[in-house]
Amino acid sequence: MQNDIQNILFTEEQIQDKVKELGEQLSRDFEGRNPLVICVLKGAFIFMADLVKRMSIPLEIDFMAVSSYGQATKSSGVVKIIKDLDVPVEGRNVLVVEDIIDSGLTLSYLIDVLERRNALSVSVATLFDKPSGRSVELEPDYKGFTLPDAFIVGYGLDYAEKYRNLPYIGVLKPEVYTAQ
Ligand code: 5GP
Ligand code: MG
Ligand code: MG
Repeated sequence: MQNDIQNILFTEEQIQDKVKELGEQLSRDFEGRNPLVICVLKGAFIFMADLVKRMSIPLEIDFMAVSSYGQATKSSGVVKIIKDLDVPVEGRNVLVVEDIIDSGLTLSYLIDVLERRNALSVSVATLFDKPSGRSVELEPDYKGFTLPDAFIVGYGLDYAEKYRNLPYIGVLKPEVYTAQ
């Protein structure tokens, strides 16, 4: 698995430092608001787990899965709910936790759904942002790192369902794609 990585963009330590910082900021901003923290599966599962451990306030969590890329590296623009929330969001302060925002299509669809369900507020925290990839206007409320247009894996993020368990963020060697 490590052999497929061309270079490491963010080490485990750099990621943990950033997650701690975000968690502290979110704790201040959501104090007394009992946020419903929503993990967008699967990519955000590790970030979500680390982030809520750094949030020192009462909160609730839930999970949602939406279809995005399949095995490709670019968004198709077609978004579908694969797994919905277990609890209603009406009247809740919702914090959507994403791994990475590229085109913004997945998230803008999700925000729309949550607003139509009458959430009191919808905020977005993403660990990674690729603003150059945007096809819709969307600015996350909280973000960890801004990236150039590169495809990254690790820390929850996959290529063809692999590499999610790498503790760091890396870029794949080009031959990994062409070998498919
Ligand atoms: P968007 O709809 O913003 O184009 O993409 C949303 C989802 O696509 C992300 O939440 C993530 O799951 C996936 N994605 C976007 N960019 C990357 C990337 O560089 N690496 C990986 N592994 N997944 C990505
Ligand atoms: Mg995602
Ligand atoms: Mg993926």
